[in-house]
Amino acid sequence: MNTEPSSCLVIEDSVAGVTAGNAAEMEVIAVPSIPKQVDKLSSASEVVNSLLDLQPEKWGLPQFEDWIEGTLPIEPWYIGGPVIKGFGRGSKVLGIPTANLSAESFSDILSEHTSGVYFGWAALSTRGIYKMVMNIGWNPYFANTEKTIEPWLLHEFDEDFYGEELRLAIIGYIKPEANFPSLESLIARIHEDGRIAEKALDLPLYAAYRDSPYLTNPLPESNS
Ligand code: ADP
Ligand code: MG
Repeated sequence: MNTEPSSCLVIEDSVAGVTAGNAAEMEVIAVPSIPKQVDKLSSASEVVNSLLDLQPEKWGLPQFEDWIEGTLPIEPWYIGGPVIKGFGRGSKVLGIPTANLSAESFSDILSEHTSGVYFGWAALSTRGIYKMVMNIGWNPYFANTEKTIEPWLLHEFDEDFYGEELRLAIIGYIKPEANFPSLESLIARIHEDGRIAEKALDLPLYAAYRDSPYLTNPLPESNS
């Protein structure tokens, strides 16, 4: 490359790669592909949760231009199913209910997508289509052992809707999962994420997905 090692930036997901980058006296950003390997990568200059969190401007490089008002448009993905019972913590502990989908039904999709805070549109077949912000991951504050999907519909409902079909179009990313020193700071941050999602979903780029056939089509008739 005909460049000084010190002006090279290495982006690596393996321990061997991080070690090699350090040995060459290059700057190294570690992006762990195995979440629990983070400790072994601490010799990197920076550890980011996923490639979505790379900030080239921190390294004197031009910043990515695809972020819009604190959000990153992503290749949309669509999941849905009946709302199941979760840990019962959302509304009780946080005052923020999350309509859980069965993580087992989506284990492939879940392993493909990095943990973090996402947003998009949520459809409840008999009620309507709502703005939605959600956490995917292990909820570091509660140290869950299972990766879960926690969609918070940005709407006040008068009642629960367990068992109802919930469909999600996930179209944007906000930030990685994080831990918080207190419950209050966690709650404040979730509300802030809600405001970011609420505002972003009015942008034409994101608003368009409200009309996704996946959300607006009725459920297929049961043949049985
Ligand atoms: P659980 O742990 O069983 O998911 P929560 O305390 O997270 O319990 O409450 C979630 C339930 O609350 C949802 O399954 C849904 O029936 C109901 N609910 C009411 N309002 C909302 C909302 N705005 N967003 C998500 N779920 C809601
Ligand atoms: Mg919940």
